[in-house]
Amino acid sequence: MNVVSQAQIEQWDKSDPLGAKRLEFSLPKDVIYLDGNSLGAMPSVATEHAKHVLEQQWANDLIISWNKHKWIDLPLAVGEKIARLIGAASGQVICCDSTSINLFKVLSSAMALQKTRSVVLSLSGNFPTDLYMVEGLASVLGQDACKVKWVDEDILESALTTDVAVLMLTQVDFRSGRLLNMERLTNLAHQKGILVVWDLAHSAGALPIALDECQVDFAVGCGYKYLNGGPGAPAFLYVAKRHQKNVSQPLKGWMGHKRPFAFAGHYQPAEDINQYLCGTPNVISMSILEAALDVFADVNMHQLREKSVALSELFIALVQKEPQLNELSLASPIPAELRGSQLAFRHKHAHGICQALIKHGVIADFRAPDTLRFGFTPLYTRYQDIAKCVNILTNIISQKIYQHPEFNVQQKVT
Ligand SMILES: *Cc1c(COP(=O)(O)O)cnc(C)c1O
Repeated sequence: MNVVSQAQIEQWDKSDPLGAKRLEFSLPKDVIYLDGNSLGAMPSVATEHAKHVLEQQWANDLIISWNKHKWIDLPLAVGEKIARLIGAASGQVICCDSTSINLFKVLSSAMALQKTRSVVLSLSGNFPTDLYMVEGLASVLGQDACKVKWVDEDILESALTTDVAVLMLTQVDFRSGRLLNMERLTNLAHQKGILVVWDLAHSAGALPIALDECQVDFAVGCGYKYLNGGPGAPAFLYVAKRHQKNVSQPLKGWMGHKRPFAFAGHYQPAEDINQYLCGTPNVISMSILEAALDVFADVNMHQLREKSVALSELFIALVQKEPQLNELSLASPIPAELRGSQLAFRHKHAHGICQALIKHGVIADFRAPDTLRFGFTPLYTRYQDIAKCVNILTNIISQKIYQHPEFNVQQKVT
């Protein structure tokens, strides 16, 4: 990309087909929010809807709301709204629990389908909870039945051997933003009889996903990142229709029972995606996520991807043209088609820089030990935000503002 002028940037914002979406979010004035990959901004509809759920449904209609306001159907209803965004036909996605717990459930199912194999293959840089959950499953099933194997990305394809039971991957790497080729890897795994579990934490709501088309077996993802469901919003999981008759999962809570309100003495799983429910749905939080998903109702995910790529390309171009920023090294893949919707840069003082950015109105995040991460959320990030952010970043680095003691206090959450 050639270096662009301020006028050009303003023109891009003016002619942005997603430009009006920003008005559907409540963002603080004077804040440039580039952390929607960790916690999505709040859609304005969340306030009204939360008020309705609290004052009308809970306070007034009380327990009648399970039927009257269809609280009991929320996990499926919300699942269906997510399904459209991840390329899944009806009846395969359910909203429940956290991503970690959902991983445990689908990994257990996948391992149970692979009776003669024991290896769960993943990447060494995967998000810790994903790797921890496999360790947890191994502690239940025993090391003979479940072993974790992590490899580096350059040897991933050659590690797809016939002793592997499950390939568990995160589509977009949480640090670097690297985007894996879901179709190719799923195909290669299937050729060796391996089942796949995809974690969509940093891709659902950030780019078009085609789970059905890629013949994915299982997937999980977060409600509070690009889906904007709010802090701690429930997560989701996907189980391909073709597996639903043959799978089981060990967290046999009453909500996954065929007839929960029969209060039967023995567990009988629902025969569809409902068997992945465990306990009572998180109604308040799930209702807010449902309202937040309506912001996506008229969004074309390909158009969203185009803007995401344009925002990231602009960021890189502006960083590269600024000689004062040559201390930053890009830790994301250079070709846009190999990236999700975030960029990572390394700098020895990334922590202090991140704190200084926040003080100057730019919210980005820091990942230990030296990574500075910027997330681009095409529904509410403008091209002008990118330009302003790079200006502020240049000032902080060239003036060494990050050295100030106030920017070097370690917080509990980074
Ligand atoms: C954010 C994230 C999670 C979060 O899991 P929770 O159970 O919601 O805390 C899991 N996996 C990946 C890859 C993530 O990026």
